[in-house]
Amino acid sequence: MIAERLEQVRETIGQAALRAGRTPGDITLVAVSKRQSVTQIATAVACGQLAFGENYLQEAQEKIEACPQQINWHFIGHLQSNKARLAARLFQVIETVDRLKTARLLDKEARSGTGLSILVQVNVGEDPRKSGVAAQQLPGLLEAIHTQTTLRVEGLMTMPPYNPDPEASRPHFARLRALAEENAARGFFADTSQVALSMGMSGDFQVAIEEGATLVRIGTSIFGERTP
Ligand SMILES: *Cc1c(COP(=O)(O)O)cnc(C)c1O
Repeated sequence: MIAERLEQVRETIGQAALRAGRTPGDITLVAVSKRQSVTQIATAVACGQLAFGENYLQEAQEKIEACPQQINWHFIGHLQSNKARLAARLFQVIETVDRLKTARLLDKEARSGTGLSILVQVNVGEDPRKSGVAAQQLPGLLEAIHTQTTLRVEGLMTMPPYNPDPEASRPHFARLRALAEENAARGFFADTSQVALSMGMSGDFQVAIEEGATLVRIGTSIFGERTP
């Protein structure tokens, strides 16, 4: 079941990329495995899936310790600053940095390791229920992270307000891309020519790819509904 769904998702990603005149290989699928078992993760790994996203630190720690070593783990949940150092040890990419304090704590831990990649989460929809820095505060935050830490700032991440219509997400995705371009020009990212954009979930990833996503975070379409 997971094998077929994964194949279907890859196919759909490829088609969306081609529709947008993009190269399918430029889009990385992050399989969101929150509340899915280690067995399900192992099945996806056996199908060649190597990047996984987790939201809850304690759950992730147990699973990461039980999973194959070659997995690229992305933290996509809300990051409390008192958990930052643990997150830096467990994950290869932290997608949800939205304040300097957290960045500095991640950096403290990462300096003793091999470095750490992060994305800055932006609340493009100004949704009070969502985390993320406000767009107006983004340049200041990026500049502070750039000058005060050794973190590799790969790009930006967003989660638009929930809407069952994928087209409702489009302006938010376009806005994230514009913010990435503006701030790349200021030299705030690790690689100005390749700024990562993590946007799009099961319901709206095709629209996100059309708007420039380089990382799509997909759970339900791969693993089915999550157990509560
Ligand atoms: C759960 C989650 C996803 C995946 O959502 P699906 O609708 O299951 O694809 C993606 N991003 C974040 C931040 C999430 O919390």
